Amino acid sequence: MAQSILVIGGGFSGMTAALEAAELGEEVYLVEKSPYLGGRVMQLNKYFPKLCPPSCGLEIQYQRIKNNRNLQVFTMADVVSVSGEAGNFEVTVKLRPRHTPASSVDLSRLAESLSQDADNEFEFGLVKRRPLYMSAPFAYPPRYVLDKENLSEEDRSKLSKSKQIDLDQEEKNITLQVGSIILATGWRPYDTSNLTNLGAGRIANCISNMQMERLAAPSGPTEGRIKRPSDDAAPKKVAFVQCAGSRDENHLNYCSYICCMASLKQARYLREQYPDSEVDIYYIDLRTPGRYENFAQQTLADENIQAIKGKVAEVEEDLASGDVWITAEDAISGRKLKTRYEMVVLATGMQPNLAQETLPLNLSTDEEGFVSESDTSGIIPAGCAVEPLDVMKSAQSGTAAAMKAIQTVRGR
Ligand code: SF4
Repeated sequence: MAQSILVIGGGFSGMTAALEAAELGEEVYLVEKSPYLGGRVMQLNKYFPKLCPPSCGLEIQYQRIKNNRNLQVFTMADVVSVSGEAGNFEVTVKLRPRHTPASSVDLSRLAESLSQDADNEFEFGLVKRRPLYMSAPFAYPPRYVLDKENLSEEDRSKLSKSKQIDLDQEEKNITLQVGSIILATGWRPYDTSNLTNLGAGRIANCISNMQMERLAAPSGPTEGRIKRPSDDAAPKKVAFVQCAGSRDENHLNYCSYICCMASLKQARYLREQYPDSEVDIYYIDLRTPGRYENFAQQTLADENIQAIKGKVAEVEEDLASGDVWITAEDAISGRKLKTRYEMVVLATGMQPNLAQETLPLNLSTDEEGFVSESDTSGIIPAGCAVEPLDVMKSAQSGTAAAMKAIQTVRGR
């Protein structure tokens, strides 16, 4: 019986699972495909329930990870094969090269000296990034990464002369023997390019809720100042469109649990920054799960935040001003509404990463890509791999997964 535990996915639930197991004395490997831990929480401005900035929760987790000798972290790591069974898995992990020093070195000046920019997935396309980058100031591990695929010849030649960069680093495989596998593969925002009817991708000032988080975040592209993308103007009249691509059999055929609360939270971001701003939230049902009801009531007590029960039928751009027209039917009064806004935010849902990615595991997923709860296979799903969750419930799910994994490796 192998005694170690493998956690796939270094977001909040994966980190929590890894830490809980490691702090109870188990040997744990945490494997994350991206260059940094922290998952989607890293990209938020503030998260529920206390509306903390992500650095506050994540920095504690990072400190615990750093101080724990039972826990080994591999970033830029992909699971390429798994064989065996519960209690005795053999897992091959491919480690992609980072091309930068193993210790934390400030490469910001070198990064700035490069000429070519690349798409910035961390900022959801709001800005570009240099091919040598660190996605957030509090990222873990605190090391730069070089995106070698996006180097111009000129930049490649410059970096080949730097003592800090190793362009020849190659990928390598490692083999791990583990008794149990926790699957915390997380989620991605539903692809807004599928929502052209709501203006996504064709109207500059129609953004997604995760883009809104980045605009409001001090670590984001506007240093926390919410500006509309077309002209950097302060948006003073803003609409939120709920269920954008959710509860719809042509897109995500389920409720993503937290996006109503996310819009209420983002309405507060706007009202705090611009006291004269007005917000309309178009919803079908305003969902305030569990203890969030109070937050919703307090937010909606603000007379400049209005919740309109009605489905948005059309979103059009006013080309001269960049403003956005929304046509909707007010479900209470039955009136057709056509209203002009300076910016529109689409409340897009959470799609499990496994809807679009495959792992070399015999998994049972539903048609939306969520993994079924654990059985006796020794593979234990956690967090948003199982269902849409907020950060607090993701952490609880990670803890529960750790307990199940410990039972497996201890043979109980
Ligand atoms: Fe729609 Fe709200 Fe459910 Fe999100 S949480 S899918 S916006 S009802």
